[in-house]
Amino acid sequence: MRDLSREDRERNDGRTSVELETALALIERDVAPIVETERVPLAEGLGRVLSEDVRMEGDLPPFDRSPLDGYALRSADTQGAAPDAPVVLSVTDTVHAGRMGSVAVVPGTAVRLMTGAPIPEGADCVVPFERVEEGGETIRLSFPLGRHENYCFRGEDIRKGTTAARTGTRVDSRSIGVLASSGLTLLPVRRRPRIAVFSTGDELVPPGTPLGPGKIHDSNSLVLDFALRELAPGLAPRNLGHMPDDVEHVAEVIRGLSDCDLVVTSGGVSTGDKDIFHDVFDRLGARTIFRRVMVKPGTPVMVVRMGRTVLAALSGNPFAMFVDLQLFVRPILAALTGDAGLLLRPETAEMENDYPKRSRMRRFLRAALRGSCVRAPEPGESSPGMIAKMADSDVLIDIPAGNGGLRVGDVVRIWRAR
Ligand code: AMP
Ligand code: MG
Repeated sequence: MRDLSREDRERNDGRTSVELETALALIERDVAPIVETERVPLAEGLGRVLSEDVRMEGDLPPFDRSPLDGYALRSADTQGAAPDAPVVLSVTDTVHAGRMGSVAVVPGTAVRLMTGAPIPEGADCVVPFERVEEGGETIRLSFPLGRHENYCFRGEDIRKGTTAARTGTRVDSRSIGVLASSGLTLLPVRRRPRIAVFSTGDELVPPGTPLGPGKIHDSNSLVLDFALRELAPGLAPRNLGHMPDDVEHVAEVIRGLSDCDLVVTSGGVSTGDKDIFHDVFDRLGARTIFRRVMVKPGTPVMVVRMGRTVLAALSGNPFAMFVDLQLFVRPILAALTGDAGLLLRPETAEMENDYPKRSRMRRFLRAALRGSCVRAPEPGESSPGMIAKMADSDVLIDIPAGNGGLRVGDVVRIWRAR
């Protein structure tokens, strides 16, 4: 992450654009993590972020056990065993997983074990069923075994007292296994972020309502709502629908959301007569984090803070809003929750077609990913206001400022957005 130079800070105090990296550094600096914690039952932990390291209360596995169905025996008994000099051992017990055997393995004996059964005292190795000749009360072996062959040690997976999962781990199907085995019943987690979303625009009517002259259906509030829910299990924004372009009304709504950690809105951030958010934020006395970023589309994005609430006012153009959401709302949420898994990760891919348009400013282009290739939209398909192709776009192609156009086969940086 880039350091903030004095020039960047000064720029940010005014209303000129900052670069993407500066905006991200400002988010990191100015968005404080949620510190409140709670304890939730393991089964309700999906998507939560650990607020403390979790330690193992016991060893895993808790006892020496067999990794396969076989016979536990003493390796010393098998020394010198060969096809022409087999060793015969008598079988003295059978132990299934979940039970303890009652018999120790003494010289000349073996105990039948199923996978996961505790290895009886006296035995130091296990031979699989299929590698011995089974004869009811006895087994014959024609090869020697080494000490601890096919043998799982108590604590070999993870030892008592060691860290099962670190602070900041997002609880998911990969991390819950060790947590469930740790002995803990309640997970220490950070409070979930409280989020509200709404869109603004006098032209908006709710989906399903007939359109009057000049009106459009509000799609953005649902896009924001769903996009946030998709980012992490259990994120559940309050969706307030749409609001008119009315400074006092919108300011009042935001005043009522002071219990939220994050409010995400769409529309009203550009320089038109009805672009109300400059006035809204001034009226609210909000502290600017940044108010314009040198990326296209989505340049006029505003991120400000009021008390503990971060307000992210995104472009109203649906695709511009989508870009702002990926570029700025993900890092804001990552900073709030401490969950770095929410951040987009850059990858590379090869262009499958030409994208001839020049990019004076850094541009993010929606594209479909096919294997290691990306297909950029054709001219006329990719304007920031167009929604139709959004469903096909998996990634954003990150085109550097000053680029003269992309050609088939060019290797480009992409950000996977789903
Ligand atoms: P704005 O950012 O408010 O200037 O809006 C830019 C463009 O996006 C305009 O064409 C709006 O009509 C359109 N737009 C704004 N909000 C929404 C919304 N909630 N759903 C769909 N389109 C929108
Ligand atoms: Mg508008």
